[in-house]
Parts: sequence; C-alpha cells; structure tokens
Amino acid sequence: MKHNFYMEPLTIRKEALGDIIKDLSNRGYRVIGPTVRGGTIGLDNITAIEDLPVGYGDRQVTGGYSLFKHERPYFFGFSNGPDSLKRFLNPPYQRLFAIKKRAKGFETMIYEYEGSPFAFIGIRACDLRALHILDMVFEKDPFYQAERKEIFIIAVNCIFPSNTCFCPSMNSGPEVKYGFDLLLTEFDEDFLMEVGSKKGLNAIEGVHHKEAAGADIEKKRGLIDSSSKSIKKTLDTEGLPTLLYREFENPWWADIANRDLSCGNCTMVCPTCFCNTSNDTSSLDGKTATRIRCWDSCFSVNFALVHGGNFRPSRRARYRQWMTHKLAYWINQFGVSGCVGCGRCITWCPAGIDITEELMAIRISGKRR
Ligand code: SF4
Ligand code: SF4
Repeated sequence: MKHNFYMEPLTIRKEALGDIIKDLSNRGYRVIGPTVRGGTIGLDNITAIEDLPVGYGDRQVTGGYSLFKHERPYFFGFSNGPDSLKRFLNPPYQRLFAIKKRAKGFETMIYEYEGSPFAFIGIRACDLRALHILDMVFEKDPFYQAERKEIFIIAVNCIFPSNTCFCPSMNSGPEVKYGFDLLLTEFDEDFLMEVGSKKGLNAIEGVHHKEAAGADIEKKRGLIDSSSKSIKKTLDTEGLPTLLYREFENPWWADIANRDLSCGNCTMVCPTCFCNTSNDTSSLDGKTATRIRCWDSCFSVNFALVHGGNFRPSRRARYRQWMTHKLAYWINQFGVSGCVGCGRCITWCPAGIDITEELMAIRISGKRR
C-alpha cells in the first residue's frame, strides 16, 4: 500500500481539533469519534473535543477491559475499544428492500443510503487495514459502497497500544502510513498533523498551524518506535496458510472447543468479520414485507444449517473455521490476512481464548505429532 502524505507535516494546538470537528459538521459530515460509553471507549457521534475521552486510558488483558485516568490530559491515551468502522459502514442492522402490497400487484422499494457522510476521528493503523479488507469484501455491495465513498478519516498513530495488540506481527501498525485525510501524532502540548488528501487540506484551511520542526518529526519517530517495542504479543505468520490446512485434524481444536463458549463475541468486535444473515419481517397490517441484513457469526449454532443438515455442528468445527478463515482462506482469496492484529477478540473473549496462543499451540502440537 502506498504512503499518502500530501505535504510537509504541521503542528497544531490540541484545541484546534475542536475547530476541525466543527468545520466537518458544518460541511455536512456526521462526525464519529471515541467517547466514553458504558465503561468502555466506543465510537459515537461527537460534536466537540469535550466529547472525546480526554485523560482516559484503558487496560486490556485477555478477557478483560477497564478504564483509568492518566495524569496528563491525553486526547488519545488509549487503544482501540470494541467498536470499529465496521459498525458504521456495514451496520449490524441494514434494511435492504421492502415489498408493498398495492391495489394491483406489488411494489418493490430498494432502500438507498440517505444519511450524511461519516467523518471518523481517532482511527488506528490496524483499523485502516481492516477498512482496506472490508473494501475488498464489499466491493460490489451497493449499501456498503454508498456509506463508504464519501468518508473523511482523521487517523491517529498509536502511542498507547494495549497488552492484547499484536499489529507489528501483521504488519498493520502501530504507525499509520496510508488511508487517511488527516493524521495526528499526539505530543504533550500539541499534535503533529500530516495531511493525506486534498479533502484533508480543505478541512484545515481556517485552522491555525505551523510547519513542523525537524525535532517534531524525530519525536514522532521516537514515540512510534517505543510504541512498537512495547507491543509484546506476537503472532507467528510463518508458513500460513499451509500450516492451518495441514493441521485440520489437529487434536488441539478439540481442546479449544472445551473452553470456547461459541458466544460469537470475537466476531462481533472483529473489525473484519462480516458474516451476516437476512431476516424478513412483515408489518402488522400484512401489507409490507421488509428484508433486513443483520450481523451473524460463524460461531452461531445455526450459521451452517442448510437443507440436509448442519455442516459445522460442533464448537471444534466452528472455532477451526473462524481461525482458518482469518489466517488462511482470506490470504488465498484476497492476498492479505483477515486478521489485522487489533487484539479485540482477545480482550473481549469471556473464555480468555487468545488467537495468538491457540495458533502457537496448533503449531507446536503439529510439530510433535
Ligand atoms: S473464542 Fe471466545 S469470544 Fe469467540 S466464540 Fe469462543 S468464547 Fe466466544
Ligand atoms: S481476529 Fe482478533 S486480532 Fe485479528 S482482526 Fe479480528 S479481532 Fe482483531
């Protein structure tokens, strides 16, 4: 993927981010950014910098998430929460079409996207990679494309990665290199701002900024290097996907199945999981039927239920499908791994199942057999 830096880096005061948010709202964007919600940092509508989780940090461990307060008022002093761009561009509940009964026959209505374009704030490198993956998956999907095409992205270099992140292993972070309109690196007093597009340049027109000094660029490099070094979790990609195809009958899958709850949390928080199902509903007067696309999960018991039976009836088969899809089939289909190393599935798994450790166990037990 090509780097898309548009001009020399700038610095802006942190408060100037508020002017950019206001400007984006005035230009008709629906501004979505990180905000504290239900004990987590989620993505939601924001209208001012006061809506951002200023001063908050997060602790993420296998099967655990909590918030704390930093001593300094960092704007982006946390890692990714459970939300990703997926929730907005491929929403959990999407009306596709409706069929209405008329006096003579039926009328079909295709739903079209009528909302304002999204401007996303605080998007990390791993989620930009996930966006690139979703773009390939939904290349021909008019609903996704309609929401996707006009988006504006203010990305952030990750300075506070969590214990469950492993983006360096997947070559997807913590440094943002492409796919943004504006990119922020947070310093104590100000932001280093990089512009990635003409749209980005337009958005900072009225914003007071100055050219970044060489020392600022070095400071950014130092922060990213130490962020990268602080990420201890790794996923060994050597020999994938061959390894997973070869280990299809590895007994370790049964061990995982004994711990796995098949709850599907991992697929809900994963920024690239896209399994869905269609539901038809009818109005109470019986005159309108609507087809709705809803998120589903390959962990759902009935996901593989087809005429003649269920071709993945066990938790063993379902977990194996999930991991093999992420780390093998996807590579064959799209040329990239379906895992971006965001660590969400590890944080949000109530059974404490960690994809990096399970893959390692499969690798080691495969060698022993
Ligand atoms: S791996 Fe964890 S989060 Fe995923 S379905 Fe199993 S128990 Fe649920
Ligand atoms: S599989 Fe897990 S670590 Fe990989 S992208 Fe999905 S949620 Fe993130």
